[in-house]
Amino acid sequence: MPDRLAERFSGRTLAVATRHGKERAIAPPFLEGLPLAQVVVVPDLDTDRFGTFSGEVERRLSPPEAALAKARFGAEASGADLVIASEGSFGPYPPAPFMPCDEEFLVLLDLRDGRHFLHRHVTLDVVFGGERCERLDQVLAFAERMRFPEHGLILREQERWSEGQEQHKGLTDPGELRVLAEELLVRHGSLWACTDQRAMLNPTRMAAIAATAEGFVKEMSTCCPACGEVHFAVVEQLTGLPCSWCGTPTEMVRALVRGCAVCGHRSQVPRADGQVAADPGQCPSCNP
Ligand SMILES: [Zn+2]
Ligand SMILES: [Zn+2]
Repeated sequence: MPDRLAERFSGRTLAVATRHGKERAIAPPFLEGLPLAQVVVVPDLDTDRFGTFSGEVERRLSPPEAALAKARFGAEASGADLVIASEGSFGPYPPAPFMPCDEEFLVLLDLRDGRHFLHRHVTLDVVFGGERCERLDQVLAFAERMRFPEHGLILREQERWSEGQEQHKGLTDPGELRVLAEELLVRHGSLWACTDQRAMLNPTRMAAIAATAEGFVKEMSTCCPACGEVHFAVVEQLTGLPCSWCGTPTEMVRALVRGCAVCGHRSQVPRADGQVAADPGQCPSCNP
């Protein structure tokens, strides 16, 4: 079997098309796990044109589309032929909508053969929130819950950003937060405080991006047993893990399916955590 991983990555330069310092999370696992020569950052790349968390630029593309658009933009801007870009989104966790989650995507674009590879990572470990405040003590209590000043905050007039609205982003200085909050409260009667989700201002998100990159490298370096191509990645999750008491299939994941985008080979693999039976609490028969 040819070593497609070496063929594709040996001695090459990976360009990171990102703002907000995300190369700190992305570069180490890629250098460690792939035979790359180096990782460089595409300088002065205005990825905010693809949408911002704080709403100044509306997000029109889905997160995977936005990540791919950023990678293409990074390739054009730098002339690099191997580019990685990132996109994240925060919102309710679908199985439990009262919990916020962070869904992170990385796209690696290889212009030598035009292929791109996508990796998705979802985590409930987030520092994410927003609150209307009428008094300074509310702002300070919110800031403490959002692990300020390690995590940056935004203060503005309204929950939704609009043109001409007073807004202060990237706040990490307690004195500045207090002064700006007092000014906004005097001028407008109340304010909207929320977390700043940009990676360099939210170390919890930076860690999520690092976990995404680590998972991506693992998937990328898993090669197809039929043709040897890289990224023999999980394409499907099969539910039906049997109950440990009665054997009834549950909604829990039973196995994963890996697939090759080049030759179409598929194979079923056990859960990564080795779990072979579900807790009866998850069973529709034992715990209806
Ligand atoms: Zn059962
Ligand atoms: Zn294959």
